[in-house]
Order: sequence, then structure tokens, then C-alpha cells
Amino acid sequence: MKKKGNKKNKKQEDLDDNENIYTYKIILIGDSYVGKTSLILRFCKDKFDESSLSTIGIDTQIKYLMQNNKKIELQIWDTAGQEKFRSLAKSCCNQMQGVVFVFDLSIKETFKNIKTWYTNIEQIIDFKKVGAVLVGNKSDLEPHNINQDKIMEYANQKKMEYIVASAKKNINVNDIFSKLLDDIMQKSKGKKIENVNVHKLGRLSVAEEEEIIKKKKKCC
Ligand code: GDP
Ligand code: MG
Repeated sequence: MKKKGNKKNKKQEDLDDNENIYTYKIILIGDSYVGKTSLILRFCKDKFDESSLSTIGIDTQIKYLMQNNKKIELQIWDTAGQEKFRSLAKSCCNQMQGVVFVFDLSIKETFKNIKTWYTNIEQIIDFKKVGAVLVGNKSDLEPHNINQDKIMEYANQKKMEYIVASAKKNINVNDIFSKLLDDIMQKSKGKKIENVNVHKLGRLSVAEEEEIIKKKKKCC
């Protein structure tokens, strides 16, 4: 009897899961001009704007994804690297499930500054619970002028995936968010989502996105 009941519950759980949208908040951090906004624009709209305007303060984008049959609402927070917004960006981090650290492969200084960003943010969030990836952007520009071994060493030390990407040429951009979700799900095991094996990042059709938005509107 007990077993039957459990089976029913499992089915019900699956059905419920179909209706669920898992919301994750993630933030992109790094110096001005490294390409944070461009990476988000590429990921969310598959566009690249050569003359993108500077982000002021904090901006957000929402992207709906299917990952491992789960509907995910990814809230992507874009920050400005300007000095006056640094504390704002830092204070936003304690609400996040994931952080993308971005530097510019053609400007050494931007990688050095990642270390400062990380140290500051580490004071307010626990990276054992929060996902993180390191991104070297603008891989289309040559030469890179940066010692890749040192970056790898740093990423290993901080247990972050290191992704070399280009928003301009659309290289490894999806990978950034896929790897981050992977890390978030691993770290949230036993909390929000249990035993999730994350596979390739999928995309929802427009119709599916609209259906999710409609459902969300009904329930809020
Ligand atoms: P943010 O300040 O970090 O948000 O940087 P932006 O996204 O505004 O990008 C700053 C500048 O770098 C813009 O002129 C972009 O067109 C350019 N940019 C961004 N990503 C890339 C890239 O992958 N390759 C190249 N060559 N330029 C890029
Ligand atoms: Mg920006």
C-alpha cells in the first residue's frame, strides 16, 4: 500500500514539476568595457552591438530555458563597472544564486581586477552555495596578452570553470550560462532541485515562452 502511495506521489511530483518554473538570479561582474552587456545581449537576443552604450547602475534581463526537462527562468543582472556603482553591484550579490566574473582577454588589468572583485564579493556570499564561472571575453581579438596558465591556476584554486568566449563572434556564450547553471544545481542539491543531471542547454520556442509568461501572470 505504502509503495503504491509513493508511486502516486512521484507521478504527482512529475506533473507538478511540469508546472514549475525554477527561478535563478545571476549577476555579471567585472570592469567596464569587458563586454558584460554584450554577452547578455548575445545570449538573450543573439545580437551584437558594436557601439553598445555603457550600462548605468543595474539592469536586468530574463531568459527562459529548458534544462533537463525543467523550466528555468534565468534573471540576469547586468552591472556597471564604474567605481560609484561597485558597492551597489557588491550588495546585489547576496541575493544571487550565481556569479559570472568577466574580464577582457586583451587587457591584463581587467583580470587582476577580477581577483579584487572576487575577494570583495567573497565577504558577503559563500561560494560553496553560490555558483560561479570565470569568463575571458573578446577571444576574437589577437593577441591575448595574458598568461592563460595563470588564469587557469586561479580558476582551479577558486573551483570555477574558466570559459574563453567572444560575444562578438558568438563563441562559447551559451556555454557560460550552461556551466553556471550546472554549478548552481550542483551546489543547490538537496535544496531546490535534487539529483539533477544537467545536459545541453535547450531553448524554448516562442510559443512556450509565451505560455510560461501567461501562467506567471495568472499566479502573481
Ligand atoms: P560592459 O561595460 O562590460 O558591459 O561592456 P560592453 O558590453 O558595453 O562592451 C564594451 C565594448 O566592447 C563595446 O564596444 C562592445 O562592442 C565590445 N565588445 C564586447 N564583447 C566583445 C567581443 O567579444 N569582441 C570584441 N572584439 N569586442 C567586444
Ligand atoms: Mg554594460
